[in-house]
Amino acid sequence: RGDTIYACALAQAQARPDSHAIRDSHRRLTYADLVAAADALAARLHDSGVRAGQRVGLWTSSRVETAIVWLACSRNGYTCCPSLHRDHTVADVHALMERVRAVAFIGETGWGADAARADIFEAVGKMETMRLVLRLDANGAQGGGGEDLVNAGRTLDDEPSTDPDRVVYLAFTSGTTGEPKGVMHSDNTLLSNARAIASDWHFGPSSVLYTMSPLSHNLGLGAMISAFATGAEVVLHDVARGASLVDRLVETDATFLFGVPTHAIDILSELRHRGMNKIGRLQGFRISGASAPQEVVAGLIEHGVMPQSGYGMTEACSHHYTLPDDTPERIIGTSGKSCPGYEVRIWSTEDPDQELPAGEVGQIGGRGASLMLGYFDNQQATEEAFNSHGWFMTGDLGRLDADGYLTITGRKKDLIIRGGHNIYPSKIENLAMQHPSILRAAVLPVPDERLGEKVCLAVMFKPGREALEADEVLAHLDASGLSRYDMPEYFLILDEIPLTASGKIFKRDLVEAVRAGEL
Ligand code: ATP
Ligand code: MG
Repeated sequence: RGDTIYACALAQAQARPDSHAIRDSHRRLTYADLVAAADALAARLHDSGVRAGQRVGLWTSSRVETAIVWLACSRNGYTCCPSLHRDHTVADVHALMERVRAVAFIGETGWGADAARADIFEAVGKMETMRLVLRLDANGAQGGGGEDLVNAGRTLDDEPSTDPDRVVYLAFTSGTTGEPKGVMHSDNTLLSNARAIASDWHFGPSSVLYTMSPLSHNLGLGAMISAFATGAEVVLHDVARGASLVDRLVETDATFLFGVPTHAIDILSELRHRGMNKIGRLQGFRISGASAPQEVVAGLIEHGVMPQSGYGMTEACSHHYTLPDDTPERIIGTSGKSCPGYEVRIWSTEDPDQELPAGEVGQIGGRGASLMLGYFDNQQATEEAFNSHGWFMTGDLGRLDADGYLTITGRKKDLIIRGGHNIYPSKIENLAMQHPSILRAAVLPVPDERLGEKVCLAVMFKPGREALEADEVLAHLDASGLSRYDMPEYFLILDEIPLTASGKIFKRDLVEAVRAGEL
C-alpha cells in the first residue's frame, strides 16, 4: 500500500479526531491535536528552508513531541534522525549531527549525560548546514522558555508528501560488532512490519500499546507506528518515574506491552507479591532482545498475559515473532515465524551463496518489505551486506524447523571454533548468567596454536554478592548441562563488563584485549 505514516495519523484524525493517540507521563494528545501539532512543525521547518530528503536531528526523552517531529518529517519527506541514547555526550551528539549533515535540530534541556549539555544548542547552531534549532524544556517542566510544539496552531497551504519510498528515518545500529552503521528506512519499510504485527495481534482503536523502549529505538518506534496505523493509543514509559509498573499499566489501561525479559521478571514478581491475578486489560507482551526464562513465560500466561518472543534488527525491523496462539514451548524455544511480507533462509557460514536445509545451523539471511533501503553514506557496506542472490546477511546464526520457526544460536562474529568444533558463546553466557551471583558474562576467544581458538569466560558479579571461584562457576555450567566440548578453559573476573546503548554486552574491546594478551 502507498500510505505514509503521516497519512495514517491524518486518516485517524479525520475518522476519530477525539480518540487518544499518544500519552507520556505529563500529557495526552488526541489524533486531532497530534496532527495539528505535526502540521505546525512541518510548516515551521519548511519556512526555515528545510527540504525533502534533508535530515532533522532529534535528541529528546520519550515524550509526545518526539512523535510530533516524526510525523512532521513523514509529512514533508524529511529524514528523522534520533540520537539513540541519553548517555550520549554533547560531543557525541554534535559528531552525529555533523555526520548526517543535519539541517534542523530539536533537543531537550536536561537530557543527556554531560553537565554541559545545554551547550549542545550552541554547538549545533554553529554548524554550516543548520537552519533551525529548537529547544524544548525538560519533559513536564514547562515555563523554562522552551518551545511549545503541542500548541503551535498553524495552517498549511502545501500538500503532504505522498511518496512512501522516501527516506524518512535514519537509525543507527547498536555497534555491537563494529562502529554503528546508519540505516535508512522509508514509510513503506516501517509500515509493512508495523501493520503485520498490528493485524496478528488485532490492534485497533480500543488498543493501548505501552512501550518501555524509547521512540528512538526500533521497538518503541514500531509500537508508535502500529498505533497510528490502527487508531490505537501509544503510551510512552518514563524512565525517571519510579512508580510501580503494574500500577502504571492499569492506570493507562494498557492492552499490549513492549519490553525486555527483565521487565517480565519484575512484573511477575510484583504480581505475585501483591497477590494479583491480572494486570487490568493487559493481554499481550512483546518480549524483545532475548527470550524470557520458561518459568516467566508460564507465569505471564497464568496471569492472562500472552508473551510474544521475537527477533529483528535495525536493518529489517522486528520481522520474526510468535503469535497469540503459539504454544509455550515455541515462545520459549524459538523467535517465531517470519511476518507476512518477509522471508528468511539459512545460508552456509563458509559460503553465503549456498542455502542450507531445514534443521541446520547457518547464517540467517532475509529479504522482504521491512528491509532497509541501505546504509547511510556507505555504499560499500550496503553491497557487502547482501549475498549474490540478493539476501540480506544478518551476521546472526540460527536454524529453521520444518514449520518455519526460527531459533537463534548466536552471532557469526562471536562464533568460536576450537579444533573444528563450533562453540556458541551466547549459550554459555546465558547459562552463566542464570547463577544468582553473576550479573554479566562474556565468552571470548583465546588464540591457540594447536586448536585455533580456546574459550575464555569473563564474569562480572552482582554488587554485594560473594565472588565465586573458577571451579564453582564451572560446576554450575556442568550442572546446567553444558557439554564438555563447550566448557571454558580460561576464567576472568572483571569489575565491569560494558553494555552497548541498547543494553547488549559489548565485547569488541574485551576480545581485542584478550587477543593482545592484556587481560
Ligand atoms: P551492530 O550491527 O552495530 O553490530 P547490533 O546488531 O547489536 O549492532 P541492533 O540492530 O540493535 O544492533 O540489534 C540487532 C541484533 O540483536 C540482531 O542482529 C541479533 O544479533 C540481536 N537480537 C535481536 N533479537 C534477538 C533475539 N530474540 N535473540 C537473540 N539475539 C537477538
Ligand atoms: Mg547488527
